[in-house]
Amino acid sequence: MQLFKRRNKYSTLPVKKKEIPQGLWDKCKNCNEVVYRKLLKENLNVCPKCNFHHPLDVWERMDLLTDKGSFMQIDEGMESVDTLKFEGVASYAEKLESNKRKTGMNDAIVCGTATLDGRPFALGVMDFRFLGASMGSVVGEKVTRLTELATSRRLPLVIVTASGGARMYEGMLSLMQMAKTSGALQRHKQQNLPYIVVMTHPTTAGVTASFASLGDLTLAEPKALIGFAGPRVIKDTTQAELPEGFQTSEFLLKKGMIDRIVNRSELRKELSLCLEYLGSWLLSEPAAQKEDAKGKKSTKPKKGKKQKAPAPLGA
Ligand SMILES: [Zn+2]
Repeated sequence: MQLFKRRNKYSTLPVKKKEIPQGLWDKCKNCNEVVYRKLLKENLNVCPKCNFHHPLDVWERMDLLTDKGSFMQIDEGMESVDTLKFEGVASYAEKLESNKRKTGMNDAIVCGTATLDGRPFALGVMDFRFLGASMGSVVGEKVTRLTELATSRRLPLVIVTASGGARMYEGMLSLMQMAKTSGALQRHKQQNLPYIVVMTHPTTAGVTASFASLGDLTLAEPKALIGFAGPRVIKDTTQAELPEGFQTSEFLLKKGMIDRIVNRSELRKELSLCLEYLGSWLLSEPAAQKEDAKGKKSTKPKKGKKQKAPAPLGA
């Protein structure tokens, strides 16, 4: 007598596992949710679930912030040199080569001139994929030359920052870029030309301590990490509990370090508006200086004459 039902024999035929195409989904690094990659791209790399702004590469950023086909690159061929012959797990020369292959860039920043809604400006965009967008001699030199170009052509300057800081492979040479870029920006400022910084995740160390913090107007993307030393280093040094949200755009907005947090979907419109406000100022400047220099008709109000107050911005 059979007490138990015989177990069914499973087929031994090989069954092909259903294949899920690779690269369709991404995991958000902030909320750990799985997001459809196409949706993430359509949303400008902003997580639709938690609004975290994932990095854009340099060309995606250019598309976002310039008129189509208007960007003219300068210093494209400038490349870093391994002056110190830095050796580590991988040498600096090897690192440079692999990053060039990975990104198709020669270094961590792309600079040039462009227009946005027809308004010309000088633009530099950093790309975190290239050695953490660290600032070596090339990044420093390109920012300096871009600033000098903006000064000579009387253009507003916009730099989109993202950086892990100084490039340790270049030692002291890398740190010297902080002073060089700051000096060029001071000369741009002396000409009453506007400089707008857009801080993105993450902007830290030597870049924060130089050209990223010198804007006349500092915009930042939401939830971006912005700071000098990392939170762990600060905590160990100060032996103090750090406040909640320390080193985020939201925290720094409250403390007055940045002027405005702008969602990426609004960034193009906001930047265009800023260039319109600051650019209109700019256009009147050289004409007034020219007239003064010639000693002809001056735009300065005559003594005793009442000066009309300028219309408020946005009126
Ligand atoms: Zn998310």
